[in-house]
Amino acid sequence: MVLILVTTFLVSCSSPSQAKIPTVYTPEKIAQLEPYRAPIATARAKMATLQDLIASKNWVDTRTFIHGPLGELRQDMAIVSRKLLVKDQKPAQELAKELFGHFERIDAAAKDRDSAAAQAQYAEAIKDFDAFLNLIP
Ligand code: ZN
Repeated sequence: MVLILVTTFLVSCSSPSQAKIPTVYTPEKIAQLEPYRAPIATARAKMATLQDLIASKNWVDTRTFIHGPLGELRQDMAIVSRKLLVKDQKPAQELAKELFGHFERIDAAAKDRDSAAAQAQYAEAIKDFDAFLNLIP
């Protein structure tokens, strides 16, 4: 009985994020967004590398990672934000701003060799990154 309740809770917990996906995007619009979504999703996949660098306290490569491939990500996020439904544009812009704020703080933590701060900022960055991706159909 307890297990059934837990399962029900998990299912109901995961449904809001699915409901958040806009249903009024046309297939044409989705196709237009895809070339921008793809590199953003690739960058999200590469975040595992950043996590490993932070976990192994490789601060030099952590900073190189943040200053390297993420420059294009900022641009792709700005472009895709402007192409979303009007109601999603502001939230997307805010999330992108948040995300890059966390990257800056990871960079500062790496400079200070502050492992706890770097890990905390990484966790926040992932939340904002995933929330951003959830806005793209
Ligand atoms: Zn945040």
